[in-house]
Amino acid sequence: MALIVHKYGGTSMGSTERIRSVAQRVAKWVRAGHQLVVVPSAMSGETNRLLGLAKELLPNPQTPQALREMDAVAATGEQVSVGLLALALQAQGLQAVSYGGWQVPIATDSAYTKARIASIDDQRVRADLAAGKVVVITGFQGIDPQGHVTTLGRGGSDTSAVAVAAALKAAECLIYTDVDGVYTTDPRIVPEARRLATISFEEMLEMASLGSKVLQIRSVEFAGKYRVPVRVLSSFTPWDIPLEEEAKSGTLITFEEDEKMEQAVVAGIAFNRDEAKISVIGVPDRPGIASQIVGPVADANIDIDVIIQNVSHDGRTDFSFTVPRSDYARAMAVLQEQVMPAIGAARLAGDAKICKVSIVGIGMRSHVGVASKMFRTLSEEGINIQMITTSEIKTCVVIDEKYMELAVRALHKAFELEQAPVAAA
Ligand code: ASP
Ligand code: MG
Repeated sequence: MALIVHKYGGTSMGSTERIRSVAQRVAKWVRAGHQLVVVPSAMSGETNRLLGLAKELLPNPQTPQALREMDAVAATGEQVSVGLLALALQAQGLQAVSYGGWQVPIATDSAYTKARIASIDDQRVRADLAAGKVVVITGFQGIDPQGHVTTLGRGGSDTSAVAVAAALKAAECLIYTDVDGVYTTDPRIVPEARRLATISFEEMLEMASLGSKVLQIRSVEFAGKYRVPVRVLSSFTPWDIPLEEEAKSGTLITFEEDEKMEQAVVAGIAFNRDEAKISVIGVPDRPGIASQIVGPVADANIDIDVIIQNVSHDGRTDFSFTVPRSDYARAMAVLQEQVMPAIGAARLAGDAKICKVSIVGIGMRSHVGVASKMFRTLSEEGINIQMITTSEIKTCVVIDEKYMELAVRALHKAFELEQAPVAAA
């Protein structure tokens, strides 16, 4: 008998029929002797619908008071889900109880619409489990120190589930979703992309932050910090497939030292078009210039990602960085108005039509030549690299957006990701 957390996404909760099938699946696990905590999302489309209603009334909520109300509205999607699922479980003859985040409680900070979980009280849930109940807890929501309802950001139910699993020291957190696992890259771009049986949580963290949308990134951070084994698996398999088969399906996010790890040098290729590039050209190269450029942008709450400063010539240099594409216009305005007059740079240039393509793998730590193979592959396709960043386990390039799919396909082939890696000797 093990304590297991199941998380079901919006698609799995999309209709009463689907909710019934979730309940049947959960009942199968309970009948096999497990204790179950289930964390569902809102029914598919519901969070968008709710936020849309709110924005009809206040188009651009910015103040803490307004954001508080956005959360009050958005949190109701999951409130409905947990009640319906508990009813469906009762209809299966199980004892089930639903809780909102505030009832557990799942304590968060007060950063409305993107709150962070501070702690989870496990007492009530443990008592219910001990009494033989299935506990259904809202994803996505929590409560701040003043008792206000908060939400964890879009896709936050993943984080709720992993955090609940961490608090309860669950044996595994199963994330049932509309894909059947984590792939070497997006199969819509590379049909030969392969599902990974395992991926390390560090690789998953890079994949998630670089654009793979399978899990909310904070859920992966939680999994790593509290060492929660997380499995991503399909919610589209028939509910009555054998439990042993289901329990081994999908992709297990695991830890490097686990023997089950695949031995590939490169685990996958991530990409996104969510960023834009900005260059400040002909900057006088003197101490403090980087902070003078980046400071006002950061003060405007715009995230800066890849940063590159060139060697200087004749006392001048070029300074480039990327920002979220949605903040591009705002960042350019800040630079034009506040930074350019102050630093005496020659000119400001920007390009919103870029993309980032990254290769990710913990094997890169011990294998040289991965980056050079990446650059060679891109050059053979005639793709110009505009910026490069690396970490221990990834190499990331910024290229023209129009070459994104070509680059991803070429790299997938070059690193032979369509084939399962041969176990290292
Ligand atoms: N319902 C929320 C959303 O759509 C949270 C989630 O689904 O994870 O973002
Ligand atoms: Mg999701």
